[in-house]
Amino acid sequence: MEAMESRTEQGEAQISAALVQELKSLVDRPIRVMVVCGTQNRTLLKYGLEEVLPDNLDVVAGPGCSVCVMPAGHIDAFVKIGLQPDVITATCEDLLRVSGSRESLDSIRRKGAQVEVVDSPMEALDLARKFPDKIVVFTAVGFEGAAPDVAETILEAACQGVSNFCVIPSIRLLPPSLASLLRDPELNIRGLLFSSHIESITDSDAYANLARQHHLACAVAGFGINDILNGLIEIVRQVRGGRPLNENPFAGITPSEETARVQKMLSEVFFAVETDWRGLGSIEGSGFVIREELSLYDAVKRFNIRFLKGEEQIQCQCAEIISGRSTPNECPAFGISCTSQHPIGPCMVAQEGICASYFRYTYGRL
Ligand code: SF4
Repeated sequence: MEAMESRTEQGEAQISAALVQELKSLVDRPIRVMVVCGTQNRTLLKYGLEEVLPDNLDVVAGPGCSVCVMPAGHIDAFVKIGLQPDVITATCEDLLRVSGSRESLDSIRRKGAQVEVVDSPMEALDLARKFPDKIVVFTAVGFEGAAPDVAETILEAACQGVSNFCVIPSIRLLPPSLASLLRDPELNIRGLLFSSHIESITDSDAYANLARQHHLACAVAGFGINDILNGLIEIVRQVRGGRPLNENPFAGITPSEETARVQKMLSEVFFAVETDWRGLGSIEGSGFVIREELSLYDAVKRFNIRFLKGEEQIQCQCAEIISGRSTPNECPAFGISCTSQHPIGPCMVAQEGICASYFRYTYGRL
């Protein structure tokens, strides 16, 4: 355990040897588990869990980084809107350096476009109030867990009549993307590990149904290393027992009244349509767009922009990595032409990107 512990910082939790032992004693057949959440994947790498997992337990990363799954054509649309006169693009830090076909929001900022980093959609709305002679465009990138804040902000803008604010809706829904991945028999996923994150207040039934339909084991865990270990133990137990999933593992995480309130708000603002994903292609019902009644707040309609097919970086294998078909160290560019200082693809740019986590915690060791 020495190598693992040297990668954790003083005062942080350590891997429980007892849980590792329990997991080892339970794995009696090859089992491949997809860890969907980017933060949990980062924790696994940070603590060097792959060094102590049983040989028969294969843990692969899923498409759990919302910046990474954004195809080049969508970044091109952000850039195109960001270059319009009198526009301030309000975006998250992670998205800045992700390149579209040619430019990124960071590169157009260096050429004079107004691009501001914000921590939330409400902060973007504040910018709109502060600069009434500009149009503030918020790049709403995230999974369904990010959607309630965006919906709330759009409704507040509408209620207060703030007309110089709009959103590029780029929210993606994980259940349809996972369903599309799970149809690939070569991936041979037997279990899904989710985080006890905000997904539970949007549509947790969708995750539980997905696991049932594909006869998968499924568990929900927190972000700590030992929470994740417990989640893996639960999945292995379900696989061994051959039990169908008869309970929603998200049940009880969020009060049902809160889930109902959020779902109602989301349906007032958005509806789901077919959307493009990096590495996964176009998936029916996998992205939110803004309803016609709120089209003033839809930057795509306001600027008459279409999401076109962009040009991906040819040497980058993010598409294979996002879909669990490859790992970063199998990419020829990893650690050579692609590093955290000089990232090529979004999986190295984004904090939750799996290449960034590999580079930070394993480079030089694998
Ligand atoms: S290491 Fe860099 S080039 Fe290779 S897949 Fe990851 S982001 Fe793309």
